[in-house]
Amino acid sequence: MTNDDTIVAIATPPGRGGMGVVRLSGERAMEIATGLIRFPALPLETQRATLGEFCDPQSGRTLDQVVVTCFRRPHSYTAEDVVEISCHGAPVVLKFLVECCLKRGARAAEPGEFTMRAFLNGRLDLTQAEAIRDLIESRTLYQARVAAQQMEGAVSARLKPHKQVLVDLIARLEAGIDFAEDDVAVMEWEEIRSRLDALRADLGRLVEGYEYGRIVREGLSLAIVGRPNVGKSSIFNRLLNEDRAIVTATPGTTRDLVAESANVGGIPLRFVDTAGIREAHDVAERIGVEKTFQAIADSDLRLLVVDSSQPWTEEDTRLLRKMRPLGALLIACNKSDLPARVRNADFEPFISPEAAATAAPVEVVWTSALSGDGLPQLREKILALAAPARDLGAEGEFITNLRHQQLLGNSLQALAKARRAAEEHVPHEMLLIDLYDALRPLDTLTGATYVDDLLNLIFSTFCVGK
Ligand code: GDP
Repeated sequence: MTNDDTIVAIATPPGRGGMGVVRLSGERAMEIATGLIRFPALPLETQRATLGEFCDPQSGRTLDQVVVTCFRRPHSYTAEDVVEISCHGAPVVLKFLVECCLKRGARAAEPGEFTMRAFLNGRLDLTQAEAIRDLIESRTLYQARVAAQQMEGAVSARLKPHKQVLVDLIARLEAGIDFAEDDVAVMEWEEIRSRLDALRADLGRLVEGYEYGRIVREGLSLAIVGRPNVGKSSIFNRLLNEDRAIVTATPGTTRDLVAESANVGGIPLRFVDTAGIREAHDVAERIGVEKTFQAIADSDLRLLVVDSSQPWTEEDTRLLRKMRPLGALLIACNKSDLPARVRNADFEPFISPEAAATAAPVEVVWTSALSGDGLPQLREKILALAAPARDLGAEGEFITNLRHQQLLGNSLQALAKARRAAEEHVPHEMLLIDLYDALRPLDTLTGATYVDDLLNLIFSTFCVGK
């Protein structure tokens, strides 16, 4: 892959449609397009749609009426000359148009190559490029909004002030070493430590917010557990808003591990709908039960459904005891439209932190899957329990990407080392090694800090030019 040839690809999804777009990017984009398409007048106006005719180069016969938009570098997606040709969405015509472009010297673009060029040409940093992919893959409007914020550079914007603090610190220490005989004030250990602490606290908060960011990006997995016939499928259907699971009055008929999609508050919900973790009677059953249990333990949240119109049972207690140590738990006392025979006192003893040896939160909601009562509260509690950090900040102000979380984690580790080094008053040269180690992962995220940036800082912030 080189960056100086002109690339071409069909930009719209495969298949027939009202429209299909062929995109060209590179030095020869305009020349190739104008060689293949007849226009009423040339040269084309940039950033304006122009009507033209795509003709078979051999016969001269018109194949499609097209609308062409040109973008002159650097005012384009890739920061190169770009031509977008909107055809009618006939796959054969689109394919033929691409072949004609190839014949005229364009090269078929690799997957993601347009965005990669935008990155290589400095139009986007990596976090923005990744956000474009997330935007395209978003399944809810909320996910799209978060990705759009990140596409505009929200992650980098959030990180840049921290990076600046680190770069400043590095510059001050470097200046102290390089210009020791000049009058550069050496930074006090106390100040170094307090700057490092502030930095670590801020980055730490960002890393903590990742748990929520991950859920926004990947969706939230919910395991619905309970005795047969308590209303698990009915609740599941209510959450889906469609009749996907088969509801039946015969006990034990809920499908075993159904993964379906719905969303709460814009976060996609993935279901681990389980037929209940019954007592196993043979080896095969035990393996099945163990698998189910693993899936339940791995989910972001567990929903235990009980039938509130029936007296509390031993089986309810057994399930509650099994679920409680696994983390946050939501209990739905379902069939609230019928006279209640379950009392809070039935389960309260089992959900206290002392009884469970875990401080993970438990919430109880009374629901009726039949009437829909309590379902909005159930949705609200699902969000509150599985994504407690959602009030963390504006959309896009939290990180959603595992790679970003790991890079920030690496930076934090190096900062912790630097903090220890500052405690031990090691020579500044040694401390700088840790600080550069902390800077590098941030550079990977937001774009590199160049030696020049550092030098400029060193020379601008201090009066060393005697
Ligand atoms: P599952 O076996 O736990 O999945 O339970 P289902 O969802 O299949 O429901 C079992 C039966 O209880 C069905 O006949 C449902 O119509 C009924 N049911 C479910 N939820 C409610 C509810 O809130 N109120 C009443 N009255 N019946 C319900």
